[in-house]
Amino acid sequence: MHRATKIVATIGPASSTPDILLKMIRAGLDVVRLNFSHGTADDHRQRAEMVRDCARQAGREVAIMADLQGPKIRVGKFENGKTTLEPGHPFILDAECELGNDERVGLDYKDLPRDLKPGDILLLNDGLIVLDVARVIGSEIHTVVRVGGDLSNNKGINRQGGGLTAPALTAKDMEDIRTAMSLGADFVAVSFPKNATDMEMARQLANIAGAPYGIKPKMIAKIERAEAIPALQEILDSSDGIMVARGDLAVEVGNAAVPALQKRMIRMARDSNKLVITATQMMESMIHAPVPTRAEVSDVANAVLDGTDAVMLSAESAAGKYPVQTIEAMAAICLEAEKSEQSELDKDFLDRTFTRIDQSIAMGALFTAYHLGAKAIVALTESGSTALWMSRHWTHVPIFALTPRAGSERAMSLYRNVTPLHLDTSSDRDTALQQAIEVVVSKGYASRGDMVVLTVGEPMGQPGGTNTLKIVRVGDVL
Ligand code: PGA
Ligand code: MN
Repeated sequence: MHRATKIVATIGPASSTPDILLKMIRAGLDVVRLNFSHGTADDHRQRAEMVRDCARQAGREVAIMADLQGPKIRVGKFENGKTTLEPGHPFILDAECELGNDERVGLDYKDLPRDLKPGDILLLNDGLIVLDVARVIGSEIHTVVRVGGDLSNNKGINRQGGGLTAPALTAKDMEDIRTAMSLGADFVAVSFPKNATDMEMARQLANIAGAPYGIKPKMIAKIERAEAIPALQEILDSSDGIMVARGDLAVEVGNAAVPALQKRMIRMARDSNKLVITATQMMESMIHAPVPTRAEVSDVANAVLDGTDAVMLSAESAAGKYPVQTIEAMAAICLEAEKSEQSELDKDFLDRTFTRIDQSIAMGALFTAYHLGAKAIVALTESGSTALWMSRHWTHVPIFALTPRAGSERAMSLYRNVTPLHLDTSSDRDTALQQAIEVVVSKGYASRGDMVVLTVGEPMGQPGGTNTLKIVRVGDVL
């Protein structure tokens, strides 16, 4: 079965044995997310090696996404590990406090008091705790508890409405980018970018750190602060893709605003030829239960219908009881939702103009395959850009992207409706096309007599060189 929507899963304590990871890959895991908010550089390195080993055993490429912690603002630690906040009671966030107690707690971002004024609302622990800022005195933020509860070490802090000035890349992020490149990460997810400048800076650092390893990572902007919403287009233009990071975003903009924003972000990403991942709490109840709730099933299916490239798992796969079953369930939901989806080669498409030859061929192939009712599109690609353009429009024709470059193969594992496959293209064009068809047939994706649409560049081996479209029946001599 060809599943169009990709699955990104965070690995952690629940999924860091080769046995479980291999099962997750076999169940449909496409991209592994290493969460740099937890663990040491060595942990990430070991996990990355394990991913490569398991992918080899499973016989396909699995991409790695390094997700940077970013300037998430957090409370410090408590003498007793935690405190309990009572509604109506005062509580102090103090940049100079070393070890917290029932009255106050420290802050990892010492400038936070300068960003706040009376009347501001602070949300702690993903919005479970709400504090009203009463006044700021030097290093101390005096608050009154509006919604109380247990507050433990290092919980996150957001301001409702956003607007905190912490810089987008911390010293830890810069170090983590180097670690990510040294372990061969294909994607870098940047947390809390506000604008294009934040993304450009991250890309520059990643390109420099990746150069010794021959890696040019794809940059994913996590849209999770209020300021990123008005800057969405410039952030898209400066990134390879975005993540609808619903966890922090919901805290900053209010959770009721998130579903409509998700739809808008997915549409804008696709219109801009960029990738998009929908993340957080998609299968949350499966942390503890072997089946998802009806609401979760709908959520995943709706993200598919919105046109997301990928759906993502966080704690479900990193720390949950059922990492393999969660992926199986997610894959099944995606497959079913895709069946019902309307093709969207809309009329706007006819008015588009292109300046690039490869892009014109990609769009021509898609249009032809769709109207001809072809069984598959088979694209021989170096950089993967032909496959990216084709995958920005949904038709039910599956796209098989064959490349000699393992890096392109891994990057394409995030592209919707694209199945990346390895092909050595050092021979002449017709032999390569013949071999490409054989690969697709041997994997069971097409059979004798099926019409397929092929794209290739001549001379071969040049990124961006696609210039040829060919329509054949499987089994015919090329
Ligand atoms: P996180 O990002 O899991 O790193 O916080 C995703 C989100 O905020 O939704
Ligand atoms: Mn987040």
